[in-house]
Amino acid sequence: MGALRVGIIPVTPFQQNCAILFDDSEKRGVVVDPGGEVDRIRAAIEDNGITIEAIWLTHGHIDHAGGAMELKEALEVSLIGPHEADRELLDNLETQARMFGLTDGVRNVTPDRFLAEGETVSFGDHVFEVLHCPGHAPGHVVFFNRAARFAHVGDVLFSGSVGRTDLPGGDHDALIRSIKEKLLPLGDDVEFLCGHGLGGRFGDERRGNPFLV
Ligand SMILES: [Zn+2]
Ligand SMILES: [Zn+2]
Repeated sequence: MGALRVGIIPVTPFQQNCAILFDDSEKRGVVVDPGGEVDRIRAAIEDNGITIEAIWLTHGHIDHAGGAMELKEALEVSLIGPHEADRELLDNLETQARMFGLTDGVRNVTPDRFLAEGETVSFGDHVFEVLHCPGHAPGHVVFFNRAARFAHVGDVLFSGSVGRTDLPGGDHDALIRSIKEKLLPLGDDVEFLCGHGLGGRFGDERRGNPFLV
């Protein structure tokens, strides 16, 4: 088994961090949150010679899930996550696209499998624990690799900020609880990738994030 590597392709007008998580020796992995610009995502996969085994979704917002069905069909892989509480968002992505004036082939999403707290997802020997972290979206999940001390937190937590909670299904108190009770206890040393902008370390957020004091 090689090391866990993370490749990032910012997609959509929201500059969402579509991520390719892969093993650097086996060159196999998964795509997390293909929000759009599927041609660019496919080119990055091909340029790096990576075999994609599945697509994982953190939550049902358009910038994270808008390209998921197209990529799933192109790669012929299964689509896993988020938590079932985001089913309504996923069923209405085409409506969301029209509201935002997006025309980039956004399609409603039907996952092959929803995820629940305490489950695990994996590729090769890289195992990720699933944490259900509602607040930004009701069915938001976080993927935590305990061995690699790495978490993909989607739009739950950002460097110096937290996810917005003014969208349908948002709940600020639930969001702060998700961060304080589920994410920060994983350890100050855990490195995180988030849905937009630069990631960081949980310890820096615990000490310095103004939303968590
Ligand atoms: Zn979001
Ligand atoms: Zn987002």
